Amino acid sequence: TTALDAPPLGPMLDDIVSNHRPQRESGSVPANIPSLAGVPFSRFGIAVATAAGDVFCSGDADVPFSIQSISKVFTLAMALRRDSPGALWSRVLREPSGTAFNSLVQLEVEHGIPRNPFINAGALVVTDHLMDQTPDAAAALLDFLTAESGPGGPFIDEAAAASELRNSSRNLALAHFLKDFGNLRRSAESVVENYVRQCSIMMTCRELAQAGLFLAREGRGAAGAVVTRSEAKRIGSIMLTCGMYDAAGEFAYRVGLPGKSGVGGGILVIVPGQCAICVWSPRLDTKGNSLAGTAALAELSDRTGWSVF
Ligand code: GLN
Repeated sequence: TTALDAPPLGPMLDDIVSNHRPQRESGSVPANIPSLAGVPFSRFGIAVATAAGDVFCSGDADVPFSIQSISKVFTLAMALRRDSPGALWSRVLREPSGTAFNSLVQLEVEHGIPRNPFINAGALVVTDHLMDQTPDAAAALLDFLTAESGPGGPFIDEAAAASELRNSSRNLALAHFLKDFGNLRRSAESVVENYVRQCSIMMTCRELAQAGLFLAREGRGAAGAVVTRSEAKRIGSIMLTCGMYDAAGEFAYRVGLPGKSGVGGGILVIVPGQCAICVWSPRLDTKGNSLAGTAALAELSDRTGWSVF
Protein backbone atom coordinates (compact mmCIF):
# COMPACT_ATOMS: atom_id res chain seq x y z
CA THR A 1 0.00 0.00 0.00
CA THR A 2 1.06 3.54 -0.71
CA ALA A 3 1.35 5.97 2.19
CA LEU A 4 -1.25 8.70 1.90
CA ASP A 5 1.29 11.53 2.06
CA ALA A 6 3.78 10.17 -0.47
CA PRO A 7 3.48 11.82 -2.95
CA PRO A 8 1.63 14.63 -1.16
CA LEU A 9 -2.08 14.23 -1.74
CA GLY A 10 -3.10 17.90 -1.63
CA PRO A 11 -0.93 19.02 -4.59
CA MET A 12 -1.84 15.83 -6.47
CA LEU A 13 -5.57 16.63 -6.15
CA ASP A 14 -4.90 20.20 -7.38
CA ASP A 15 -3.12 18.68 -10.34
CA ILE A 16 -6.05 16.38 -11.06
CA VAL A 17 -8.47 19.29 -10.96
CA SER A 18 -6.39 21.25 -13.47
CA ASN A 19 -6.00 18.20 -15.71
CA HIS A 20 -9.67 17.19 -15.71
CA ARG A 21 -11.90 20.22 -15.11
CA PRO A 22 -13.81 20.47 -18.42
CA GLN A 23 -12.82 23.47 -20.52
CA ARG A 24 -15.68 23.12 -23.01
CA GLU A 25 -19.06 21.46 -23.02
CA SER A 26 -19.15 17.75 -23.86
CA GLY A 27 -21.20 14.82 -22.61
CA SER A 28 -24.86 14.89 -21.62
CA VAL A 29 -27.32 15.59 -18.81
CA PRO A 30 -30.23 13.29 -17.91
CA ALA A 31 -33.45 14.11 -19.76
CA ASN A 32 -35.74 13.10 -16.89
CA ILE A 33 -34.26 15.49 -14.30
CA PRO A 34 -34.79 19.09 -15.49
CA SER A 35 -32.92 20.67 -12.56
CA LEU A 36 -29.62 19.03 -13.55
CA ALA A 37 -29.48 20.73 -16.96
CA GLY A 38 -28.71 24.06 -15.28
CA VAL A 39 -25.53 22.94 -13.50
CA PRO A 40 -22.46 24.52 -15.19
CA PHE A 41 -20.44 21.96 -17.17
CA SER A 42 -17.16 23.29 -15.76
CA ARG A 43 -17.87 22.27 -12.18
CA PHE A 44 -15.28 19.82 -10.90
CA GLY A 45 -14.55 18.77 -7.33
CA ILE A 46 -12.66 16.00 -5.58
CA ALA A 47 -12.32 14.96 -1.93
CA VAL A 48 -10.44 12.16 -0.20
CA ALA A 49 -11.47 11.22 3.36
CA THR A 50 -8.83 9.05 4.97
CA ALA A 51 -9.20 6.31 7.57
CA ALA A 52 -6.89 8.40 9.76
CA GLY A 53 -9.50 11.18 9.82
CA ASP A 54 -8.05 13.71 7.38
CA VAL A 55 -9.99 15.13 4.44
CA PHE A 56 -8.09 16.40 1.39
CA CYS A 57 -10.08 18.48 -1.11
CA SER A 58 -9.63 20.41 -4.31
CA GLY A 59 -11.74 22.29 -6.86
CA ASP A 60 -15.49 22.55 -6.19
CA ALA A 61 -15.35 20.05 -3.31
CA ASP A 62 -17.62 22.20 -1.15
CA VAL A 63 -20.35 22.84 -3.73
CA PRO A 64 -23.49 20.73 -3.10
CA PHE A 65 -24.71 18.57 -5.97
CA SER A 66 -27.48 16.03 -6.48
CA ILE A 67 -26.27 12.63 -5.24
CA GLN A 68 -28.79 10.70 -7.40
CA SER A 69 -27.87 7.00 -7.53
CA ILE A 70 -25.00 7.29 -5.05
CA SER A 71 -27.91 7.15 -2.56
CA LYS A 72 -28.28 3.47 -3.49
CA VAL A 73 -25.08 2.53 -1.62
CA PHE A 74 -26.38 4.06 1.59
CA THR A 75 -29.93 2.71 1.35
CA LEU A 76 -28.47 -0.76 0.80
CA ALA A 77 -26.30 -0.35 3.92
CA MET A 78 -29.35 0.83 5.89
CA ALA A 79 -31.45 -2.09 4.66
CA LEU A 80 -28.76 -4.67 5.47
CA ARG A 81 -27.93 -3.44 8.91
CA ARG A 82 -31.33 -4.18 10.37
CA ASP A 83 -32.41 -6.95 8.07
CA SER A 84 -33.22 -10.42 9.20
CA PRO A 85 -30.65 -12.53 7.33
CA GLY A 86 -31.59 -13.09 3.74
CA ALA A 87 -34.88 -11.18 3.75
CA LEU A 88 -33.69 -8.51 1.33
CA TRP A 89 -31.74 -10.99 -0.77
CA SER A 90 -34.87 -12.98 -1.52
CA ARG A 91 -36.16 -9.87 -3.32
CA VAL A 92 -33.09 -8.69 -5.27
CA LEU A 93 -30.10 -10.44 -6.88
CA ARG A 94 -26.42 -9.55 -6.73
CA GLU A 95 -25.43 -9.90 -10.36
CA PRO A 96 -24.21 -7.21 -12.75
CA SER A 97 -26.98 -6.25 -15.12
CA GLY A 98 -25.06 -5.41 -18.28
CA THR A 99 -27.98 -3.12 -19.14
CA ALA A 100 -28.82 0.54 -18.52
CA PHE A 101 -29.63 1.64 -14.96
CA ASN A 102 -33.28 2.17 -15.81
CA SER A 103 -33.77 -0.87 -18.04
CA LEU A 104 -37.03 -2.82 -17.93
CA VAL A 105 -35.95 -5.81 -20.00
CA GLN A 106 -34.46 -8.10 -17.37
CA LEU A 107 -37.25 -7.49 -14.90
CA GLU A 108 -39.65 -9.51 -16.99
CA VAL A 109 -37.12 -12.26 -17.73
CA GLU A 110 -36.23 -12.55 -14.02
CA HIS A 111 -39.89 -12.55 -12.87
CA GLY A 112 -39.75 -9.25 -11.01
CA ILE A 113 -36.48 -9.91 -9.15
CA PRO A 114 -34.04 -7.08 -10.05
CA ARG A 115 -30.49 -8.08 -10.99
CA ASN A 116 -28.90 -5.97 -8.23
CA PRO A 117 -29.67 -3.18 -5.71
CA PHE A 118 -27.81 -0.49 -7.69
CA ILE A 119 -30.04 -0.36 -10.76
CA ASN A 120 -33.30 1.55 -10.41
CA ALA A 121 -35.50 -1.54 -10.13
CA GLY A 122 -33.30 -2.90 -7.33
CA ALA A 123 -33.27 0.41 -5.48
CA LEU A 124 -37.07 0.57 -5.65
CA VAL A 125 -37.20 -2.83 -3.92
CA VAL A 126 -34.67 -1.67 -1.31
CA THR A 127 -36.81 1.43 -0.74
CA ASP A 128 -39.97 -0.66 -0.29
CA HIS A 129 -38.02 -2.91 2.11
CA LEU A 130 -36.80 0.08 4.15
CA MET A 131 -40.31 1.57 4.25
CA ASP A 132 -41.48 -1.46 6.28
CA GLN A 133 -39.60 -0.01 9.25
CA THR A 134 -39.28 3.66 8.31
CA PRO A 135 -42.18 4.90 6.20
CA ASP A 136 -40.18 7.99 5.21
CA ALA A 137 -37.02 6.19 4.05
CA ALA A 138 -35.72 9.39 2.41
CA ALA A 139 -35.83 11.24 5.75
CA ALA A 140 -34.07 8.28 7.42
CA LEU A 141 -31.42 8.35 4.68
CA LEU A 142 -30.93 12.09 5.23
CA ASP A 143 -30.46 11.46 8.99
CA PHE A 144 -27.96 8.70 8.26
CA LEU A 145 -25.94 10.87 5.84
CA THR A 146 -26.00 13.80 8.25
CA ALA A 147 -24.75 11.59 11.10
CA GLU A 148 -21.86 10.35 8.98
CA SER A 149 -20.85 13.62 7.33
CA GLY A 150 -21.59 16.34 9.86
CA PRO A 151 -24.60 18.45 10.81
CA GLY A 152 -26.06 21.09 8.56
CA GLY A 153 -24.74 19.51 5.39
CA PRO A 154 -27.00 17.23 3.38
CA PHE A 155 -30.51 18.42 2.44
CA ILE A 156 -33.29 17.28 0.14
CA ASP A 157 -33.87 19.52 -2.89
CA GLU A 158 -37.65 19.15 -2.79
CA ALA A 159 -38.17 21.23 -5.96
CA ALA A 160 -35.79 18.95 -7.91
CA ALA A 161 -37.57 15.91 -6.51
CA ALA A 162 -40.95 17.29 -7.56
CA SER A 163 -39.73 18.00 -11.08
CA GLU A 164 -38.19 14.52 -11.42
CA LEU A 165 -41.42 13.01 -10.12
CA ARG A 166 -43.33 14.70 -12.95
CA ASN A 167 -40.95 12.93 -15.38
CA SER A 168 -41.01 9.51 -13.72
CA SER A 169 -42.87 7.41 -16.27
CA ARG A 170 -39.95 5.02 -16.57
CA ASN A 171 -39.46 4.52 -12.81
CA LEU A 172 -43.22 4.16 -12.37
CA ALA A 173 -43.21 1.50 -15.08
CA LEU A 174 -40.47 -0.37 -13.22
CA ALA A 175 -42.41 -0.09 -9.96
CA HIS A 176 -45.64 -1.31 -11.55
CA PHE A 177 -43.76 -4.28 -12.99
CA LEU A 178 -42.35 -5.10 -9.54
CA LYS A 179 -45.82 -4.75 -8.07
CA ASP A 180 -47.34 -7.05 -10.66
CA PHE A 181 -44.76 -9.72 -9.84
CA GLY A 182 -45.53 -9.36 -6.12
CA ASN A 183 -42.18 -7.76 -5.27
CA LEU A 184 -43.51 -4.43 -3.97
CA ARG A 185 -45.58 -4.13 -0.80
CA ARG A 186 -46.63 -0.50 -1.24
CA SER A 187 -48.10 1.32 -4.18
CA ALA A 188 -45.80 2.01 -7.13
CA GLU A 189 -46.50 5.73 -6.68
CA SER A 190 -45.52 5.89 -3.01
CA VAL A 191 -42.26 3.97 -3.54
CA VAL A 192 -41.21 6.06 -6.55
CA GLU A 193 -42.05 9.27 -4.71
CA ASN A 194 -39.81 8.29 -1.79
CA TYR A 195 -37.03 6.99 -4.09
CA VAL A 196 -36.92 10.24 -6.07
CA ARG A 197 -36.54 12.23 -2.84
CA GLN A 198 -33.58 10.01 -1.86
CA CYS A 199 -31.96 10.75 -5.24
CA SER A 200 -32.55 14.50 -4.76
CA ILE A 201 -30.38 14.78 -1.66
CA MET A 202 -27.73 17.48 -2.12
CA MET A 203 -24.23 16.92 -0.76
CA THR A 204 -20.68 18.10 -1.41
CA CYS A 205 -17.72 15.91 -2.40
CA ARG A 206 -16.30 16.44 1.07
CA GLU A 207 -19.52 15.27 2.75
CA LEU A 208 -19.95 12.24 0.48
CA ALA A 209 -16.36 11.09 1.01
CA GLN A 210 -16.88 11.35 4.77
CA ALA A 211 -20.24 9.58 4.60
CA GLY A 212 -18.73 6.71 2.59
CA LEU A 213 -15.72 6.28 4.83
CA PHE A 214 -17.33 3.48 6.87
CA LEU A 215 -16.98 1.26 3.80
CA ALA A 216 -13.20 1.80 3.83
CA ARG A 217 -13.07 1.19 7.60
CA GLU A 218 -14.59 -2.29 7.80
CA GLY A 219 -18.02 -0.83 8.52
CA ARG A 220 -16.95 1.64 11.23
CA GLY A 221 -18.59 5.02 10.79
CA ALA A 222 -18.34 8.38 12.54
CA ALA A 223 -19.93 7.11 15.76
CA GLY A 224 -19.40 3.35 15.72
CA ALA A 225 -20.37 0.40 13.59
CA VAL A 226 -22.65 1.14 10.64
CA VAL A 227 -22.48 -2.38 9.20
CA THR A 228 -20.36 -5.42 10.07
CA ARG A 229 -16.97 -6.00 8.47
CA SER A 230 -18.49 -8.72 6.29
CA GLU A 231 -21.33 -6.46 5.12
CA ALA A 232 -18.83 -3.70 4.28
CA LYS A 233 -16.91 -6.20 2.16
CA ARG A 234 -20.10 -7.34 0.44
CA ILE A 235 -21.29 -3.79 -0.31
CA GLY A 236 -17.85 -3.06 -1.82
CA SER A 237 -18.12 -6.20 -3.94
CA ILE A 238 -21.49 -5.11 -5.30
CA MET A 239 -20.09 -1.64 -6.03
CA LEU A 240 -17.25 -3.21 -8.01
CA THR A 241 -19.51 -5.47 -10.05
CA CYS A 242 -22.65 -3.31 -10.36
CA GLY A 243 -21.85 0.27 -9.27
CA MET A 244 -21.40 1.71 -12.76
CA TYR A 245 -24.22 -0.24 -14.47
CA ASP A 246 -23.22 -1.51 -17.91
CA ALA A 247 -19.85 0.23 -17.60
CA ALA A 248 -18.83 -1.73 -14.47
CA GLY A 249 -16.24 -3.74 -16.40
CA GLU A 250 -14.73 -0.68 -18.06
CA PHE A 251 -14.59 1.20 -14.73
CA ALA A 252 -12.93 -1.76 -12.99
CA TYR A 253 -10.42 -1.88 -15.83
CA ARG A 254 -9.62 1.83 -15.69
CA VAL A 255 -9.88 2.52 -11.96
CA GLY A 256 -9.59 -0.85 -10.21
CA LEU A 257 -11.72 0.20 -7.24
CA PRO A 258 -15.34 -0.26 -6.09
CA GLY A 259 -17.37 2.78 -7.12
CA LYS A 260 -20.92 4.10 -7.34
CA SER A 261 -22.01 6.77 -9.75
CA GLY A 262 -25.03 9.03 -9.97
CA VAL A 263 -26.45 11.01 -12.87
CA GLY A 264 -25.74 14.20 -10.93
CA GLY A 265 -22.14 13.55 -12.01
CA GLY A 266 -20.80 12.29 -8.68
CA ILE A 267 -18.82 9.08 -8.16
CA LEU A 268 -18.03 7.62 -4.73
CA VAL A 269 -15.05 5.25 -4.63
CA ILE A 270 -13.72 3.10 -1.80
CA VAL A 271 -10.08 2.20 -1.18
CA PRO A 272 -10.47 -0.52 1.48
CA GLY A 273 -8.47 0.21 4.61
CA GLN A 274 -7.34 3.59 3.28
CA CYS A 275 -9.90 6.16 2.24
CA ALA A 276 -13.14 7.09 0.51
CA ILE A 277 -12.97 9.35 -2.55
CA CYS A 278 -15.71 11.47 -4.10
CA VAL A 279 -15.31 13.18 -7.44
CA TRP A 280 -17.91 15.35 -9.14
CA SER A 281 -18.20 16.66 -12.70
CA PRO A 282 -21.75 16.99 -14.03
CA ARG A 283 -21.51 15.94 -17.67
CA LEU A 284 -22.10 12.23 -18.37
CA ASP A 285 -21.02 9.55 -20.79
CA THR A 286 -23.54 7.41 -22.68
CA LYS A 287 -23.89 5.03 -19.68
CA GLY A 288 -24.80 7.85 -17.29
CA ASN A 289 -21.45 8.03 -15.51
CA SER A 290 -19.40 11.23 -15.07
CA LEU A 291 -17.07 11.64 -18.03
CA ALA A 292 -14.36 13.75 -16.39
CA GLY A 293 -14.92 12.08 -13.02
CA THR A 294 -14.06 8.65 -14.37
CA ALA A 295 -10.97 9.98 -16.15
CA ALA A 296 -9.84 11.74 -12.96
CA LEU A 297 -10.23 8.57 -10.90
CA ALA A 298 -8.24 6.58 -13.44
CA GLU A 299 -5.39 9.08 -13.11
CA LEU A 300 -5.62 9.16 -9.30
CA SER A 301 -5.51 5.37 -8.98
CA ASP A 302 -2.57 5.15 -11.40
CA ARG A 303 -0.61 7.85 -9.57
CA THR A 304 -1.27 6.57 -6.05
CA GLY A 305 -1.30 2.84 -6.75
CA TRP A 306 -4.67 2.62 -4.96
CA SER A 307 -6.51 -0.42 -6.23
CA VAL A 308 -8.03 -3.62 -4.93
CA PHE A 309 -5.81 -5.50 -7.39
N1 GLN B 1 -33.07 9.56 -10.09
C1 GLN B 1 -32.39 8.95 -11.19
C2 GLN B 1 -33.35 8.04 -11.95
O1 GLN B 1 -34.08 7.32 -11.33
C3 GLN B 1 -31.19 8.18 -10.70
C4 GLN B 1 -30.44 7.48 -11.79
C5 GLN B 1 -28.95 7.48 -11.63
O2 GLN B 1 -28.35 8.28 -10.91
N2 GLN B 1 -28.31 6.61 -12.37
O3 GLN B 1 -33.40 8.06 -13.17
